[in-house]
Amino acid sequence: MIKGKVIVITGASSGIGEASAKLLASNGAKVVLGARRASRLQAIVADIKKAGGQAVYQVTDVTKPTEVQDLVALAKKKFGGINVIFNNAGIMPSSPISALHTQEWNDMVDINLKGVLNGVAAVMPEFTKQKQGQIITTSSVAGLKSFVGAGVYGATKFAVRNLMEVIRMESAQEGTNIRTTSLYPAAINTELLHTITDDATKSGMEQFYAQVGITPDAVARVVNFAVDQPEDVNVNEFTIYPTKQA
Ligand code: NDP
Repeated sequence: MIKGKVIVITGASSGIGEASAKLLASNGAKVVLGARRASRLQAIVADIKKAGGQAVYQVTDVTKPTEVQDLVALAKKKFGGINVIFNNAGIMPSSPISALHTQEWNDMVDINLKGVLNGVAAVMPEFTKQKQGQIITTSSVAGLKSFVGAGVYGATKFAVRNLMEVIRMESAQEGTNIRTTSLYPAAINTELLHTITDDATKSGMEQFYAQVGITPDAVARVVNFAVDQPEDVNVNEFTIYPTKQA
């Protein structure tokens, strides 16, 4: 059941996060949006409210544990609790390892991996106490198989896959009913390619996405499906490919 659920979404200012926030809110969820761009979040919340939904936002950098905790605290303050966190914030400044874009490697680890850990840590006490909760995380097809140019990006996405699966197993053992869902999208047309600074990688990816990419609503529908399952059902992994992508 989605109606009435309180759902915190990181990376909610564009792409998959925005599409998911809008779809979930249209189905009766109370959504709490976090990202760094205030103006984008403000506009999305206004759209949701105009359509009759319930939403709030707070500027949040997922690399800062206290900001993620504050986002979860906002959910409790405004909507009385938290049922789901969607760890979706991410960047993909892909490049060959030999180019040694080491600052970007660190940024990907900080946002794509540590950002997810910050989300997990922010909800775990509440979820454990209430013996109910769902953690959805956007990994990638690059978290299932290797791609040239995605050495570090893929490393972060493989890592969050393992994290989600171990949380699922430990929760089953501990009897806390925490559901985990990993999403493995392929080419989705969002603003993600804007984060690539390596010119050759960027132009290759842009051409590829222009040929095969699909809209982020495809992923939003899967998120919606995962949240909608009964509390004793854990639909834990989804790949989402465009039909045109091999
Ligand atoms: P977008 O670039 O449109 O969205 C990325 C989101 O992450 C934005 O809302 C951005 O907001 C947010 N973000 C980035 N850094 C931070 C940060 N430090 N703190 C908080 N929020 C942050 O791309 P997508 O929608 O495609 O990306 C969403 C997720 O999907 C990512 O994890 C990405 O790796 C994954 N993915 C995407 C695929 C695709 O083809 N598009 C394929 C597979 C996975 P802001 O800049 O305002 O902070």
